[in-house]
This record gives sequence, structure tokens and C-alpha cells, in this order.
Amino acid sequence: MSRVYNFSAGPAVLPEEVLKEAQEEMLDYRGCGMSVMEMSHRSKMFESIIEKTEADFRELAGIPSEYKVLFLQGGASLQFAMIPMNLMKNRVADYIVTGQWAKKAWQEAQKYGTANKIASSEDKTFTYIPDCSDLPISPDADYVYICENNTIYGTKYKKLPNTKGKLLVSDVSSCFLSEPFDITRYGILYGGVQKNIGPAGMVIAVVREDLITDDVLPFTPTMMKYKTHADAGSMYNTPNCYCIYMCGKVFEWIKRQGGLAGMKEKNEKKAAVLYDFLDQSRMFKGTVVKEDRSLMNVPFVTGSKELDAKFVQAAAEEGLVNLKGHRTVGGMRASIYNAMPMEGVKTLVEFMKKFEEENL
Ligand SMILES: *Cc1c(COP(=O)(O)O)cnc(C)c1O
Repeated sequence: MSRVYNFSAGPAVLPEEVLKEAQEEMLDYRGCGMSVMEMSHRSKMFESIIEKTEADFRELAGIPSEYKVLFLQGGASLQFAMIPMNLMKNRVADYIVTGQWAKKAWQEAQKYGTANKIASSEDKTFTYIPDCSDLPISPDADYVYICENNTIYGTKYKKLPNTKGKLLVSDVSSCFLSEPFDITRYGILYGGVQKNIGPAGMVIAVVREDLITDDVLPFTPTMMKYKTHADAGSMYNTPNCYCIYMCGKVFEWIKRQGGLAGMKEKNEKKAAVLYDFLDQSRMFKGTVVKEDRSLMNVPFVTGSKELDAKFVQAAAEEGLVNLKGHRTVGGMRASIYNAMPMEGVKTLVEFMKKFEEENL
């Protein structure tokens, strides 16, 4: 067996310890004679899995009882519709567009009401986070929407926007559980789990209890109502059982890393190794405004398309894979999520140094 260092933006690297545990339990989960993939979601065994998964998530992230934790399908993208369907009472919402994912959410919301783009960083290819201290928030906005870490462009809000009392809704797909956060600042916080937490195909939505009502847009399908899932403990229909089980294992792993504070410390150290190198390299350059740099997604370029391609190929030959930048940006992107070990980042930087010496 030989594992690579996988810098994919998602689905992404998972902790090796977690994969090994899953492997050990694959054929016979704790003496029940079957895999978690094969068991009924109504079984006692699975009930205890989902309960522990939720309890560990709540403990890690400090989620109080006034917030529901929902395990939903359709990935992060389905939330782009579910959020307006459930929250647009006045049919008005304000969006801050800092990348492709925020833009998609904003475009989707336009189907359900007036979705105002109140700020954007598209003028400079989303390489920064706009000043959000005094935005023209609409008086009748049902919520203000952000994408907190921009996976494709590598920017992150270091300070949440001033929503002037309006509800904040945030997509945290690519920074989920990478550092502590204060859930009370949000109405809804959600993320697809395949970036930082587990396998693809599920989203965890943390929704303030008072926002979960029957007062949704009239055509909202049953499956798209938060209340449907909240009332049924995320088991209105068959949930993504195996994904929930894997997320649970990752939560236990994060607890062993010192929780979110421990995770943040490790993530800052890892990112510093890469950014410090980029800041002094004569060949590689980071593409993002320094103050807004993400700890999770690090885009960089050489300035030459040919060299970029050569680098990506040569890195892959050394077991440093999935470093190609998003098709809309080009260059390279190293996603260094929670599960990427420091060793992986150091190996990448050593390889970049060598490549620079040989190709400059
Ligand atoms: C990947 C990603 C999405 C889309 O997730 P899906 O689960 O594929 O729908 C949405 N938002 C952000 C910030 C992402 O990184």
C-alpha cells in the first residue's frame, strides 16, 4: 500500500487513523455481524451512531440546544435553494459575492425573490474579501448570506460582516471545524462535509430553532423544509448512514487533536509553512491579498502556464497529487484541510524549493 499526499479541494484527504478504523469495522461493526452500510437506519445500532455523532459535533463546536443539527443530503448546493425557501418571508435577501459558490447561491436565490448583491470582489477575480463593516443592508432583508471560506480562490473572512441586526447565513463547507466559531453569530451555518469532515454527499446544517417553522414559501417540497428533518431527527427519509458514521469517526479524531482550538493551532502552523515559502519564493507567488488568506485552500502561480503544468505533473510523480488549480483560475491550489498532516505540507514545500532551483 502506498498513500499519496492528496491536496484535492474535495472530496479530500481523510485522517488515516479514521480510514483504518473504518476498515477494521467494515465486515462486522462491533459484533453485529454486518457493515454500517448494511444496517437499518432504524436499528438500535445506527441510532447510537447518529446520536454519538451529533453529541460529539455539538461538544466540539459548542452548539447550544437552541440550535438544531441536521444531517441532510443534496450536498451544499441544495442549501442554495433550501435557504431561500425556508427563510425568505419578505422575499428579500442580501448576498455578498466572494467567489463561485457564493455566486451560485446568489443566482439560485433569485428564483425565489429579490436577491441583492450588496458587495462583491469579482472586480479582482475574487482575490480579496470586501470591507463588510458598513454595507447597504436592505431594511426588509430576511437574511444576509456569505460563503465564509472561498474554496476556489483561497480567501477567508477574518471578521464576520456587520449585518445590522439581520440574520447571518454562512456556507462554511471548506473551513468547517478548522477552527473554533461562535454559532450564536449565525442564523444558519452549513457545510458540505466532503472538504473537511467526511465523504461526499451530505451537508451538516446548524439551524437556529426559531427559524424552523411551517412558514416557508408555499411550493416548498416536504424534503426541502428544515422542519421536516428537524422533527424527524434527520431521519424523515433514509439518511446517508455511512457518511454519518464516517463523520462521527472524524469528530472523535478531532477531539483527540485537542478539539477545534487544537485544530486551529495545527492549521495555522501548516499554512504558515506554505505561505512563508510563497512570500520569499522567486518563482511561486500566492494569488490572494495577505490579510484575507485562507488556512485551508492556498492558490499559487509561477506566472507561466507551461511551468505550472510542468510543476503539477512533476509533483504528482512524487506523490503530491491534485495540485492543479480550479479551471476558472489556473495555476495551482494546495488544499491543506484538517486531515493533511504537517509532513505533507513540508514535503510539498521541499519539492517546490527543488523545482524552483531546477527551473529558474
Ligand atoms: C464544494 C463547495 C460547495 C458545493 O458542495 P456540494 O456538496 O458539491 O454541493 C459549496 N460551497 C463551498 C464553499 C464549497 O467549497
